Amino acid sequence: MGSEPVLNIAHWIPRSAVNGPGERFVLWLQGCPLRCEGCWNPDTWDFTTRTLMTIGDLADRVLQTKGIEGITLTGGEPTIQAEALIPLLERLRETELSVMLYSGFNLEELHWPAARQLLALADLAVLGRFVLSERDLNLRWRGSRNQQLLLISERYANIDINSERSTFEIHLDNTGCTVLTGFPDDAWLEDNKFFYDQREQGNLGGPKEAAFTSKK
Ligand code: SF4
Repeated sequence: MGSEPVLNIAHWIPRSAVNGPGERFVLWLQGCPLRCEGCWNPDTWDFTTRTLMTIGDLADRVLQTKGIEGITLTGGEPTIQAEALIPLLERLRETELSVMLYSGFNLEELHWPAARQLLALADLAVLGRFVLSERDLNLRWRGSRNQQLLLISERYANIDINSERSTFEIHLDNTGCTVLTGFPDDAWLEDNKFFYDQREQGNLGGPKEAAFTSKK
């Protein structure tokens, strides 16, 4: 991998329509220090190595995915790997692709230079912890009411952030793992306990606070 920046990745799916505007490549970064109660993805908390990928390989994967509107960075906590993510976003921003960023930190906490630079490369961001007592399935792209949807560039300046009830997708990846992403409601989860069981067994990868907000 040489001196090229490398990312520690929990998972990715090439195309999702429930993790931001349009269809998007979604990348879950490994490692999160915040440990929110009710986090759907505690398997992304650990900072040990999961899947390492160079920026070049990752950029190629994203750029080879036809018809997507952009990339969404989630986790885990993406800003912890901001220094490696910056060159990836700089490369993607040379194209028409848009960038959406999830972070469990709020705007004031994202004060270090690399985090600020990462934020500046995004078109929109969802910021703040997932707070179980604030959970709300009627928020577009957010899991709990305290989270801030920040419109950073002009690209989505006219987007209606309240126009859509939360929804979800089920993906089957090329390793045979099911990935549930989005915001399933309690009734659906109760009726489909299979997904919980798969997750408990470590067979279910997936997103974070805005993507998964259900009870544990
Ligand atoms: S909800 Fe997000 S910020 Fe909170 S512990 Fe999970 S991955 Fe980290």
